[in-house]
Amino acid sequence: ITQPWPASYVTELDSMVSLLESRGFEVVLDKSERNLTESELIKVLPGIDVHIAGVDQYTDKVMAAADKLSLICRIGVGVENVNIEAASAKGILVTNTPGAGAETVAEFTFGLMMALTRRIAVSQEVVRSGKWNRSMGRSIIGKKLGIIGFGNIGAALSKMVSGFNMNIVVYDPYMNAETAAKHGIQLVSLPELLRESDYVSVHVPFNSGTENMIGQKELALMKPSAMLINTSRGGIVNEAALHDALKNGIIDSAALDVFSQEPPPPDHPLLKLPNVLVTAHNAGTTYEGRNKLMEACVRTVIDVADG
Ligand code: NAD
Repeated sequence: ITQPWPASYVTELDSMVSLLESRGFEVVLDKSERNLTESELIKVLPGIDVHIAGVDQYTDKVMAAADKLSLICRIGVGVENVNIEAASAKGILVTNTPGAGAETVAEFTFGLMMALTRRIAVSQEVVRSGKWNRSMGRSIIGKKLGIIGFGNIGAALSKMVSGFNMNIVVYDPYMNAETAAKHGIQLVSLPELLRESDYVSVHVPFNSGTENMIGQKELALMKPSAMLINTSRGGIVNEAALHDALKNGIIDSAALDVFSQEPPPPDHPLLKLPNVLVTAHNAGTTYEGRNKLMEACVRTVIDVADG
């Protein structure tokens, strides 16, 4: 097991390790508390049957060194770090933990929406600077939320905001009308969503089809009062176009938990704008969420072992 965070984040790790041991696994816990480098992985993987992994980079050399590996279980959703074709060619099964952290990310996304709307971070900066200016915000209640990508997180978000009487529109070309009706949401085209929404929240996976899917053209369709929230992946929203849109009043503000390069360089232009709220890829980081992700991996390992 390698984890890209302190082992103490998974408070129930000991009981999960015991469960694996009770099922006959010998568990090797890497203590680095970060993703391993290529050369580190090449050293540790020989003889390992199952790897519960963070976003450790599975390069061709790493793949070649994994002599016994039959399962890579990614603690999280994105599997961009593994070449799936190369893994399949070697007969290695690659799994992730879809849904296990969805509510954790959704609640953070809602927190960002609220913080932007009520100017919470801005107010903190004002008070800390010794001033007492009471900033005007807006209310979130009854506004229109556009969700791009209605998977586990998008669906969790829509459920979560139901108490705020929000009007929800969704763009997800892989969703059918029947499923949309079941969730009580309205499916629209991307331009429609961008034109109508007070909040646009992005929840698609990063791939060649979603890279830069929100660029200059898309931002130009949004309302000048609209807020953009991205807790998915950095490259999905074009950062240069977003900077221009925020600087020139094309949209009101943005909250970003993810960047195309993480951490972003300190002189990143988006970090300098007052109408941007930034966090450090934190949407999934809660003790409850981490336990759920690890538990999902352990369950997968046992299920695969049981055939
Ligand atoms: P998911 O696979 O359950 O849902 C993704 C949805 O996007 C699917 O419904 C799919 O149909 C839709 N989709 C795919 N391509 C699309 C496109 N071109 N246009 C519109 N919709 C499209 O994934 P999820 O669990 O909801 O996670 C979404 C993303 O959130 C992940 O891929 C990951 O990158 C990100 N994430 C971020 C954090 C964080 O800490 N910030 C944590 C977990 C996940």
